[in-house]
Amino acid sequence: MQHDNVMPGGGLDTPEQLRDFAARLPGVIFQFHRGQDGHMHFPYLAGSGTGLPGIEAAQLEQDARHLLDRLDEEDYPRLMTAIERSARWQLPLATKFRFHLPNGRSRWIALRAQPEVAEQGVLWHGLMIDITEQMIEEARLRRLSDTDPLTGLANRRKLIARLKEETSLCNRHGTPLSLMLLDLDFFKRVNDTWGHLQGDQVLVELARLCRQLLREEDIIGRLGGEEFAVVLPLTPMVRCRPLAERLRRQIAAHDFGIAPGQITVSIGLAEYRLGEPQDALIERADRSLYAAKHQGRNRVIA
Ligand code: GH3
Ligand code: MG
Ligand code: MG
Repeated sequence: MQHDNVMPGGGLDTPEQLRDFAARLPGVIFQFHRGQDGHMHFPYLAGSGTGLPGIEAAQLEQDARHLLDRLDEEDYPRLMTAIERSARWQLPLATKFRFHLPNGRSRWIALRAQPEVAEQGVLWHGLMIDITEQMIEEARLRRLSDTDPLTGLANRRKLIARLKEETSLCNRHGTPLSLMLLDLDFFKRVNDTWGHLQGDQVLVELARLCRQLLREEDIIGRLGGEEFAVVLPLTPMVRCRPLAERLRRQIAAHDFGIAPGQITVSIGLAEYRLGEPQDALIERADRSLYAAKHQGRNRVIA
């Protein structure tokens, strides 16, 4: 496009240049209108991201449903709440959502918009940008900071955070919860006899065994060293104890690739008492574990 009055290298002086510029933006700029009757549409949409597979920009000018119908079902109510809040309080709209593509994949989209009271409703001026790559990277970093690198189990920080979530559910709903603390017996001897690398392999195998023997909903973590913890939601002590006993027996009988009968665990149990701080629960389980060690190891104490 040639314009006599334009400096070489750019400029946005004419409507054509502006339209061309908007079409090249690496995202979408838009106006979004919500009428008093609740009808939603995009009076204006531009940017390279408007080429949505299966959706015509012209359709969105009529009805925003064509886009909203393709939102992730978890994100849809969140977006609606954000729109409602932005409209009611005239606050900037800032949210993100997953948008489903026809090929079964989805993309994460960040949305920012400024509301304005308009004729028969609210008009937003805003932009949307694809943030899928950032979201993937964020999830990778979160996983990394939550995971014990040796065993792949939740690390101490993650386990304590999950325990906090679960105990607050207990307090809200009055449901039971139990905690198991496991500590390998005479593990120093295992290292001294078979070497630290072999010791590490025992820890990895123990983690695998726990995952296999416990239920999907149980949360297993490595607290550090050769000490593990299991949070058992919806489980009172009467049900936790046989689970722990079975786990102890199966670990003692398992072939860890070193001389048989060398690997056993002591297990301390405690049941959550509604309203107590979670440290009190951990402390009781720890006392039980200490008692299990004291009474000869390879046993479960509640
Ligand atoms: P107890 O029955 O009283 O628990 O005896 P123990 O030898 O298991 O207890 P202690 O706490 O004295 O020693 C724990 C040992 O666990 C010390 C250390 O050599 C070993 N250990 C801790 N973390 C690791 C690890 O990541 N890898 C390996 N291979 N060994 C570890
Ligand atoms: Mg030990
Ligand atoms: Mg220990």
